[in-house]
Amino acid sequence: MPGSRRGRKRLLIVVSVRGIVNFNEKKNASAGKEILMQKNAARLIKRAFPALIAVMLVFVFALNSGCIISDTLFGHSSSNGGSYFDTESAYSDEPSDGSPPELDFVVADLEEPLEVDTYEDYELLGKRYLHICDSEYLDLFFDYPSVTAEECIAHIDGNHAIPEQYKALMRKYVNSVAAKYPEADLRPFDYNIRTLEIQECDEFELALHTMSIDAYGCYVRTENKIYVPKGYEYKPGTWEYQVIMHELSHVARTVSRTVDKTNLDIDFSIECCIIPEEALNSIFTVSLFDYEERDIAYQLQSNMFLVLTDCLEGYELSDYINHSLTYFAHMLDEQNGNTNYAMAVMKLIEEQRSDWSNDDYEREQEFYYPIYDYLTKMYVDKYAEPEMSESELKEMVDRLVDTVMYDVPEDYNIDTAEFYRFAEEYCSGSAN
Ligand SMILES: [Zn+2]
Repeated sequence: MPGSRRGRKRLLIVVSVRGIVNFNEKKNASAGKEILMQKNAARLIKRAFPALIAVMLVFVFALNSGCIISDTLFGHSSSNGGSYFDTESAYSDEPSDGSPPELDFVVADLEEPLEVDTYEDYELLGKRYLHICDSEYLDLFFDYPSVTAEECIAHIDGNHAIPEQYKALMRKYVNSVAAKYPEADLRPFDYNIRTLEIQECDEFELALHTMSIDAYGCYVRTENKIYVPKGYEYKPGTWEYQVIMHELSHVARTVSRTVDKTNLDIDFSIECCIIPEEALNSIFTVSLFDYEERDIAYQLQSNMFLVLTDCLEGYELSDYINHSLTYFAHMLDEQNGNTNYAMAVMKLIEEQRSDWSNDDYEREQEFYYPIYDYLTKMYVDKYAEPEMSESELKEMVDRLVDTVMYDVPEDYNIDTAEFYRFAEEYCSGSAN
């Protein structure tokens, strides 16, 4: 774990749309919220918390996971018909012999195209379950077609559970989104913000809520609450500022509430790909800033998604606020002429992060070549010119590699030669 950069970045945690994910910390990525939370709890205990504190953490863990599980049992199901907790994760249970887990997906085109998540609306035992996965269907719940930034800000100002410092951050967030992405549907954000609570905690309380001793803040969707450290000042240009804004981006695309007899669940993320969701969130968030920020949460994955979003025609970052990851994957498949392949690449990206974060195994680099080849293909498709010389082609791939490798921890051991090899093969027409 090299130096100060990791030291700084590990001071982050996010309770993501449905779980806890640490930022850039080798110790904390995995698939599946329950696994994540179990690992976080175990790790905290291992890290020499006093025994009493450890017991308390386990207790809180049990409460938290129960909350999340019951929430998902009834509210979360994808339009593909499975609940989030019984859709596949990218992993089987971790074996104990130190060998890598077998993937439960294939990195290849499938027979059927990916189905884009839409919504589910059904009744069970007298209660309505409404699960919305795309802003196109928000009218099923909201009886108004849109909200303005001014309306959002009025709701922020009217919410007395939000301390003034955070109101100012939220006003800035709303104004930035509205100015840069006028197509972004702010209704979920506006709806959350009316009752959102900010809870300032001391270090210990924050650790209890985030299941990490390294947290700067987290959004818990089931509580509609952001936990933050007491007395912290979030200044533009700092890592902490990025964190709080990142949390607000979660607030903007997820709602978990029971309204009258309706169990409302607006959630544009998907269970199998937590890290890709976080990467998209991260690059969306820093794009709101009025200064360049390349030091991004989930650095390697965010760098990769920077390339994907740059090279995907017709995809704007406002689409991150409005649509699900399956929408994004579907667009990738269409552009690249694939049949349900982009999701496999994203799962592989997730696995690479998990591999890095897991001390028990390390796969051969070849395993991840499909990611590098995919990025290279899209980059070449966008930037290569017919008359490019060999040196110009190399410079082009240099730029791609610089983007992908920016500030990436060395212990990922990325084999950058594959980008050049594939580009050469692809440009000579011999790639698949
Ligand atoms: Zn996040």
